[in-house]
Amino acid sequence: DTQKKPPHVAIVPTPGMGHLIPLAELAKQLVLHYKFFVTFIVPSDGSLMEPHKKLLQALPETVSSIFLPHISFNDLPEDTEMEARIILSLIRSLPALRESLTVLNDSTRDLPEPIKLPGCVPIQGSDLVDALQDRKKEAYKLIIHNTKAYNMAAGIMVNSFVDLEPGAFKALEEGVQGNPPVFPVGPLIRTDSEVDGSECLSWLDRQPEGSVLFISFGSGGTLSQEQLDELALGLEMSGQRFLWVVRSPKKAANANYFDVQSMNDDPFDFLPKGFLERTKEVGVVVQSWAPQVRVLNHGSTGGFISHCGWNSVLESIVHGVPLIAWPLYAEQKMNAVLLADDLKVALRVKLNDKGLVGSEDVAEYAKGLIEGEEGKMLRNRMKDLKEAASVALTKEGSSTKSLAEVVQIWNTHKN
Ligand code: UDP
Repeated sequence: DTQKKPPHVAIVPTPGMGHLIPLAELAKQLVLHYKFFVTFIVPSDGSLMEPHKKLLQALPETVSSIFLPHISFNDLPEDTEMEARIILSLIRSLPALRESLTVLNDSTRDLPEPIKLPGCVPIQGSDLVDALQDRKKEAYKLIIHNTKAYNMAAGIMVNSFVDLEPGAFKALEEGVQGNPPVFPVGPLIRTDSEVDGSECLSWLDRQPEGSVLFISFGSGGTLSQEQLDELALGLEMSGQRFLWVVRSPKKAANANYFDVQSMNDDPFDFLPKGFLERTKEVGVVVQSWAPQVRVLNHGSTGGFISHCGWNSVLESIVHGVPLIAWPLYAEQKMNAVLLADDLKVALRVKLNDKGLVGSEDVAEYAKGLIEGEEGKMLRNRMKDLKEAASVALTKEGSSTKSLAEVVQIWNTHKN
């Protein structure tokens, strides 16, 4: 198992610097050469611990330390030998030590540093799929169960293309012997055109080229009321043209996932007072659903605020539209990392201390993407990616060939 997590070692030094100094050096070697994690659990007899703290603080970040509560030697005679004190300091710290080890086991197994998956840009643990965030949840167990079954597949088709994730596909190809072959056959995106929503398309017809920001959080994405307010005010503040698919606010970000076009209440009722009137010259809001592929294909569309669902990502790439990555749930944060950190075709939103994307930030992202220098760079790179996507699907393209391989395998299988 090449992906096995490195061990986490707890080191318990006896009091005094003489023991701590060489152990600190040992810890350094373990984390620097072997990528281990180390935690010092330090008993304390009430003497001044400042030099210990200083020494430990100077160690690499993956070395952490816990100072145990002072133990008391008040009951010992004045002339108790040093050796006895050292041993007693450990014995008397045992209950606290046990507790620290339990806490450590439960809470710091998590990797403090970004995870380096083969062929991918480093990713923070918190950006991994939602289902992996809490080991106690049912989804976690099921995901792990499914992932372990990876090798049972005869092959895996992926809705992506080699040039979108070259590092990852190479790593999969060179992966462990016996792993299933991977066939990137995408982008497979919706091509039939929807008839509904022609009003917003004719509005787009009247807007200047590349001037409109499209906002949609996929089929199931919803925002809280507070977030809806910030987004609305931010769009207004930005002065940019926009086409926004608005849903009624919900507590859970994926509240609409199994209930796609829930029309129970009028989402416009939840917009800030006077917003529609104040923005009617520059913006259009549609209720719950827009013909997204046609919007992204429209020349007036210049940017896309997206929750980074994979279909939306591919649709944006195929039409060369740079993004503001606003991930909400599932694996969307991973997709946002790919878009913003690796491919550099998106700005990723930051959350403020209230856990919201603030209106001023929204305004800045919107202006930056549609009018700014950075937006220009993102757009240029997106053009290259659009080209690569279309090449992958040509007769000789990598995805066409990949699919032909699968077809060949299936044909042979049948005969
Ligand atoms: N979609 C659409 N109009 C909308 C919202 C979504 O046509 O107003 C389509 C979008 O084009 C995409 C799909 O719904 O094909 C959403 O898939 P995605 O993977 O982006 O997100 P999910 O809905 O799975 O979160």
